[in-house]
Amino acid sequence: MNAHFPFDNSYARLPDRFFTRQPPVPVERPGLIAVNRALADRLGLTLPEDPDEIAAIFAGNAVPEGAEPIAQVYAGHQFGGWVPQLGDGRAVLLGEVVAPDGARFDIQLKGAGRTPYSRMGDGRAWLGPVLREYILSEAMAALGIPTTRALAAVSTGEIVLREGRMPGAVFARVASSHIRVGTFQYFAARTDTEALGALTEHAIARHYPDADGPAGLLDRVIAAQAELVARWMGVGFIHGVMNTDNMAISGETIDYGPCAFLDTYHPGKVFSSIDHYGRYAYANQPQIAVWNLAQLATALLPLMPDRDAAIESFTEAVNGFADRFDAAWHRVLRAKLGLAEEREGDAALAFELLDIMAKGEADFTNTFRALSGADPEAAAAGLRNPGALTPWLAAWRARLAQEGWDEADRVAAMQAVNPALIPRNHRVEEAISAALGDDFGPFERLVNAFSRPFDPTGRDLDLAAPPAPGEQVTRTFCGT
Ligand code: AMP
Ligand code: MG
Repeated sequence: MNAHFPFDNSYARLPDRFFTRQPPVPVERPGLIAVNRALADRLGLTLPEDPDEIAAIFAGNAVPEGAEPIAQVYAGHQFGGWVPQLGDGRAVLLGEVVAPDGARFDIQLKGAGRTPYSRMGDGRAWLGPVLREYILSEAMAALGIPTTRALAAVSTGEIVLREGRMPGAVFARVASSHIRVGTFQYFAARTDTEALGALTEHAIARHYPDADGPAGLLDRVIAAQAELVARWMGVGFIHGVMNTDNMAISGETIDYGPCAFLDTYHPGKVFSSIDHYGRYAYANQPQIAVWNLAQLATALLPLMPDRDAAIESFTEAVNGFADRFDAAWHRVLRAKLGLAEEREGDAALAFELLDIMAKGEADFTNTFRALSGADPEAAAAGLRNPGALTPWLAAWRARLAQEGWDEADRVAAMQAVNPALIPRNHRVEEAISAALGDDFGPFERLVNAFSRPFDPTGRDLDLAAPPAPGEQVTRTFCGT
């Protein structure tokens, strides 16, 4: 088989207590659902021609040469509750590849069978969450938001027991690493300062090579997360399960479980079926990021020679998230409103719009896209009370006049940041239902359409429509 992956497995060279060596458990009948050839090229992978051979690789049946499969250990706070040991319970890291441009990426198989960290789980995934993560993570990448990527999806020919007997699948995920806040917490909780130091060095070398020690790393992760959450909110994304084990040090979006994009805007929106108290609601995400980053700061403390001084400086760093987030969020909002320069009152103008949208039950994506058109006044039609937008439109027009845009440039700039297409839940669910009936056409269509969110082809414009009342998906699930 002429597969070649340019492996160089730096995580597997860390001490043994960072992971367990664990080959993927072969599946009965691998079948290729999708392979992301553009991404494979970007990584410098050579894949076989035969789809069955590709499927065998990403099912874990044919481990490519140079892979050193491991299950990583970590810990984490889940919904605020401490869990001293988690880990890859249904995923195996095949290894890291170094792309032609020198960038390093993890290739992980999710649903690759049981590992020592599986607890009561079966180590498998079913088709629904695999297709969901494929569609959503690729859409996020096309939206320009840091994220793990989808390399492939394969069916296993096996049954997985969930709400019923579901078809099994494996998802091949690419990430700049799978190091989580919870990875630091794992070693800190064990007072394993040596491992903590090695992990910190590894993370710095990999993600922030110019960062100065643990304090520098903390600072960079805070900055990356402030940026990430602001960008999520700019496209109406709700992660849904921002546990510390689901927050990557790299600043990439990771773990697409019960996440969802807003249709109708409301700051308190929650989709996740397990988020009973709205901990991870849309507008709570910045506060939760702070909470998680405080856990990272706490985990890094043992590495600091002067603990008291470090507590003080780390507290200040974590509190600094608010200003960083605000700066990023205001910048995102300004861009969404076609405001290139920063003026006093811009944020207030944006918040006023969001408030009107919430009260008017406006569609988040379509409202901003309508404002991005040649006739922004059309945005009012999407509100319950269209008249509520009239004074705001006048104020915005007046502010826009200070920018010196010509109209065509304003439209082009706004359409480049306000997507026409996002992966709406009802479309994703529709594609999963079709796939359960062996029709992968809708899944392929969505993957293709969402690769051009800002500039869709005419035949994909129906995907911009919000769900009809009977189509609304109000609950999303973890996929475990
Ligand atoms: P998640 O909620 O997806 O972030 O997963 C939380 C933890 O549960 C992680 O340690 C997962 O590896 C583990 N887990 C989730 N689903 C399964 C499964 N089907 N089998 C084994 N472990 C699982
Ligand atoms: Mg997770």
